[in-house]
Amino acid sequence: MTTPPVFRFAPSPNGLLHLGHARSALINQRMAEAVGGRLLLRVEDIDTTRCTPELEAAMVEDLRWLGLDWEEPVRRQSEHFDDYGQALEALMDAGLVYPSFMSRGEIKRAVALEAHWPRDPDGSPHYPGEERDWSEERREAAMAAASLEGRSVVYRLDMAAALSHCGRSGSFSWEEMTVTAKGRVVATETHRMDVAAWGDVVLARADVPTSYHLAVVVDDALQGITHVVRGRDLMAATGVHRLLQHCLGFPPPIYHHHELVMGDDGRKLSKSQGDTALRSLREAGLTREDIARMVGPGWWD
Ligand code: GLU
Repeated sequence: MTTPPVFRFAPSPNGLLHLGHARSALINQRMAEAVGGRLLLRVEDIDTTRCTPELEAAMVEDLRWLGLDWEEPVRRQSEHFDDYGQALEALMDAGLVYPSFMSRGEIKRAVALEAHWPRDPDGSPHYPGEERDWSEERREAAMAAASLEGRSVVYRLDMAAALSHCGRSGSFSWEEMTVTAKGRVVATETHRMDVAAWGDVVLARADVPTSYHLAVVVDDALQGITHVVRGRDLMAATGVHRLLQHCLGFPPPIYHHHELVMGDDGRKLSKSQGDTALRSLREAGLTREDIARMVGPGWWD
């Protein structure tokens, strides 16, 4: 007997769900149905100051209203910091992580002095500090000083070391599904992404002991996710995820990055655009069928 494909919808409850989330949730559900797969829900709440139990409850209510059906139990990332800690330790033991000490303000000031400082695909500057080259003794002394002075420590992936550990020069590839009418996967094609462009990505901070990149890769592996379906805004990040999967010995899922729902201003929707919140639309009298028509890629006509 073959095991069924496993999909997941993984929203962050740091605001109300909007039309963009509805598209992602419905595409996941439709694709899982089309291949006889399972659908899991993961609550990506590592930012425990912005993600609240009230917002999570509102999210679940909105998803139920939309008609989404998922398997229990729901995985809540804030309950699994130990899993991410173990993965971080494995990367540390392999010599691929270093502690860094510059604050956000210090980074900003250092970068402002340079005319063409490299930026990652999200627009953040590459880390300008030099701690990656420090000796073990110097790191230990800096860690002790940071803890005495209450300075924060940020753990970063040493991108050059990680790439050479994997025997790669700079890029990673994955299989991207092409989907047509009725949500059927018609083909997969290989996508390649320049991972080095991300620089030394953050893997954990003192206040949030994991990053999105680390937690998503660990959870996709622990939950046996075979198909990752999410918005195109996360396409570039998939290169980092493939690198981390390789370093941690995790199998790569297949991906589908769908088109985003754009606002009237032609920009990506954000949680602050209240009028596209599913809750406001529901209160204004729209039905779940209306929402599906508004965000569906035409599969359910
Ligand atoms: N939690 C992420 C978000 O809400 C999605 C992560 C993913 O699907 O990989 O944007």
